[in-house]
Amino acid sequence: MNKTVLLIEDNEQNRYLTTFLLERHGFTVMSAPDGLRGIELANSCAPDIILLDIQLPTMDGYAVARALRQTGHLNHVPIVAVTSFAMVGDREKSLMAGCNGYIEKPINPDTFVSEIEQFLPDQHSVHEGS
Ligand code: MN
Repeated sequence: MNKTVLLIEDNEQNRYLTTFLLERHGFTVMSAPDGLRGIELANSCAPDIILLDIQLPTMDGYAVARALRQTGHLNHVPIVAVTSFAMVGDREKSLMAGCNGYIEKPINPDTFVSEIEQFLPDQHSVHEGS
């Protein structure tokens, strides 16, 4: 069965590229442009993994991660922060907020999907070419 990725990202171009890369590798992608809608979707779509932009309007990614971690049935879902903040301490802040890992933007299209797969508990490969 396809793994479902929930992508919470406000930048349309980043959403487009990330969705394209993941769908090409067999993932199902749901996306939300802000934290509140992301949390709603997380509750309704039971994602296998959540990719979380940190720079979001209204509610930043740290707040979203903390809110997700306070939701019992989402507690075990891996959350990977994806951020262009290249500041010292961001990795630690992401982990403190409940994220499992951290990927820096701009994402590398050649390695992005395999980086994401490392956070999935079940390592069935879904590679289809490339
Ligand atoms: Mn953003």
